[in-house]
Amino acid sequence: MALKTDLYIDGKWVKGSKTVPVRDPSDDSVIAEIQVATEKECDAAVDAAYRAFPEWAKTAPRFRAEILRKAFEIMIAEADSLAEIVSRENGKVLSDAKGEILYAAEFFRWFSEEIVRVQGDFRKSPSGDKRIVVTHQPIGVSLLITPWNFPAGMATRKIGPAIGAGCTVILKPAIETPLTALAIVEILERAGLPKGVVNVVMPTPAGPMVSRMLHDPRVMNLSFTGSTEVGRVLLKEASDRVIRCSMELGGNAPFVVLDDANVDEAVKGLMIAKMRNGGAACTAANRIYVAKKIASEFTTKFAKAMSELRMAPGREPGAQLGASVSKKERDKIADLVSASVKGGAKVETGGVLPEGPGAFYPPTVLSVAKDNEILKHEVFGPVAPIVTFDSDEEAIKLANDSDFGLISYVYSGELGRAIRVSEAIDSGMVAINRGVISDPAAPFGGNKQSGLGREGGFDGIHEFLQTKYIGVEI
Ligand code: NAP
Repeated sequence: MALKTDLYIDGKWVKGSKTVPVRDPSDDSVIAEIQVATEKECDAAVDAAYRAFPEWAKTAPRFRAEILRKAFEIMIAEADSLAEIVSRENGKVLSDAKGEILYAAEFFRWFSEEIVRVQGDFRKSPSGDKRIVVTHQPIGVSLLITPWNFPAGMATRKIGPAIGAGCTVILKPAIETPLTALAIVEILERAGLPKGVVNVVMPTPAGPMVSRMLHDPRVMNLSFTGSTEVGRVLLKEASDRVIRCSMELGGNAPFVVLDDANVDEAVKGLMIAKMRNGGAACTAANRIYVAKKIASEFTTKFAKAMSELRMAPGREPGAQLGASVSKKERDKIADLVSASVKGGAKVETGGVLPEGPGAFYPPTVLSVAKDNEILKHEVFGPVAPIVTFDSDEEAIKLANDSDFGLISYVYSGELGRAIRVSEAIDSGMVAINRGVISDPAAPFGGNKQSGLGREGGFDGIHEFLQTKYIGVEI
């Protein structure tokens, strides 16, 4: 597949003001030069989305569904070459990249099935002499901003419900990983998407151009996935025009292993919850709380499993842990581990930066005290700090001791006990005896500073619809 590197505006691939390189983080080689959008191209993208909106909003849900369905089919047919692009620009291993493409394509299929079922309702007023008609309409031009860690999944999780609902969009992918998003948009073009419905711009630095678009009176909605830090800035920007916001922000997931858990199953689950995507996931288990009674067995077995992972460039056969997206990201991980060790952490395995090229950081397990600094940060890499606890109450207290509340994991031999603990933990999602629960059919999202709104499931469509009440006198 030839890489797309231009901006996509009003159904045309266009040049920007200059180019910047996209690098393969496993060896720092340049994969492609992409076009950078300035004010002119960002304004043109808003123009195109605004012009396309009235016609697109009027199309039949079935028409929109069939384009999404066709795009799903093309993504599945071309999954291997798309996975190659993801792995090259992001650094993750090919098996993770392929898994991401299948997950990402599923959002197109899921929303192609759901958008024909958006319901309104018809109610009688309490006085009996009026009727209340409730309907849902597309919000309008939506700005979609995505991070580098799931360049395919985060794009389709927004594009699917947005265009399904009848909105038109401007997508701004992360500057480190734009090639996947461009490839997906080219697939939508082949699937028959009319011009102007999806536009893609890559401004850098992102801040000034995103601010400009958020202040454009034609932009009605912001859907952002990224760090809580940037989310906070964008919420302030969006408040100037009071536009609708959906925020999928950072996580710092607790992984709680109760004393009656099956240790081998819990280790297996943690290997997925921690290591999927090399630990660069908002859902990654970052604070591992293990009951004292089983902590020694658990730590030994988990450290062994981590130490056996093969770290290598993402497309090398047998690679299980690839590079981080950049040396900058890798160094952030290394700094957090160094500070943790200075604060008393014991290194069970890993913790040493490898020699040679590429943004690699090894699988690392730490035993830490419950006040160790690393527990306060979202470690976006293959690092697992383990803390022990004495009672379920203490585990719940520790799990809730965070500004984040995206996802939590609970392992127990008794379902009722696991559910009681899950209900007491303040997070938008809880996985019981499972290492991964992301599912296009489920509402994904966080509590506290992990976000606002939900993506996926049926709920995801409503992030792009607004409710209208029509009052009828009879
Ligand atoms: P990030 O630095 O917040 O960047 C995310 C996006 O925002 C990128 O497209 C980035 O563009 C853009 N951006 C950065 N600064 C901006 C500004 N001042 N104004 C407007 N846009 C700006 O996050 P990241 O490092 O890419 O991703 C990792 C974070 O995403 C983690 O915290 C992770 O937990 C979170 N995440 C959350 C979810 C979820 O569903 N809750 C899913 C995945 C990731 P540039 O790339 O051009 O800088």
